[in-house]
Amino acid sequence: MTREELVAWLMSAGEPAYRADQILGWVYERGAGSFQEMTNLPVGLRERLAEEMELNAVRALRVRQAGDTTEKFLFQLSDGALIETVLIPATPGLTSQSDRHTVCVSSQVGCAYGCRFCASGLAGVRRNLSAAEIVDQVVHVQRLSGERVHNIVMMGMGEPLANYEAVLRALKILNSPWSLGIGARKMTISTVGLAPQIRRLAEEPMQIRLAISLHGATDEVRSRIMPVNRKYPLRELIGACEEYRRRRQRQITFEYILLKDVNDTEEQARALGALAARLAAKVNLIPYNPVEGLPWQRPSEAQCRQFQQWVKRYRVAVTLRMEKGTDINAACGQLRLQEERRIGAEWSLAAVVSGSTM
Ligand code: SAH
Repeated sequence: MTREELVAWLMSAGEPAYRADQILGWVYERGAGSFQEMTNLPVGLRERLAEEMELNAVRALRVRQAGDTTEKFLFQLSDGALIETVLIPATPGLTSQSDRHTVCVSSQVGCAYGCRFCASGLAGVRRNLSAAEIVDQVVHVQRLSGERVHNIVMMGMGEPLANYEAVLRALKILNSPWSLGIGARKMTISTVGLAPQIRRLAEEPMQIRLAISLHGATDEVRSRIMPVNRKYPLRELIGACEEYRRRRQRQITFEYILLKDVNDTEEQARALGALAARLAAKVNLIPYNPVEGLPWQRPSEAQCRQFQQWVKRYRVAVTLRMEKGTDINAACGQLRLQEERRIGAEWSLAAVVSGSTM
């Protein structure tokens, strides 16, 4: 709920508008977990709030800490669905900040795009997350970790631009001074490459950062691992990125996972370097994090460094992300995958019974 919506609700309940700031202070600054804790509100209002509103759109099921202090959260939604959120302390290459806290947020339950290497899309998409479920991931990570969040990357489960309205609404809320006040420039939307929505994003007043999951620098290679490339081939995707650049004057990031013998060749490095140079984009190379049951492998570290050198020749900024959190399956949908495999039968049965699959 936005502040304006909360004020409207309070007015219609016969309460003064300043209660809105009291309530929002409890939610975003003090991390209250229930309306009962809001002791400066009249008891009657607290009861009414508890009856008519929901304070917790997500519930922590498991929290896992990796050796490198990355923390991973498995959240359960009100319909039983599972999503993942990750708290990453310092990620040079992922954002321009080091020593700051980044939260990696999910936008959907599952994913419809079926990138061949990715764990999140293995069972398709179940539904979009609501703005509340997106905002609450950040609020709960802050509450559970006791850390202040500085950066948000929409790089968890799901395709954020396929859930455009809720994602933008959530980011606007998180950006607001009455909420967490996180700067738009500290927010990154990562996309599989939905060209029309990239053009739409270019029109938004908020200065959100854009990252493109490229992963292949020619249509032949990209289509092999990312089916979405058949719908929006590189020419269209790059065209949308150029428009975004023109309107925004913001640097785009190309994410490029390195898959052994698939996209780690000199030919791909050259094509990638040329594309990045054309768009003045920076390139973030990520050695693939193997997914149980899938055939893809990561190249040797030497090969990754060689690939980086090949791209560098095009005078583009290219980082090799030595990723964090691998020991807790923090990369890319893997904690959820494990959990769903363990309790999967129960969930899919429950979903069929309640008719909530899609
Ligand atoms: N759907 C959006 C948001 C997901 S972001 C997008 O595609 O950009 C998550 C990033 O992790 C994407 O770049 C995705 O391609 C990448 N990824 C998925 N599985 C991975 C794996 N096993 N190892 C490394 N990166 C992976």
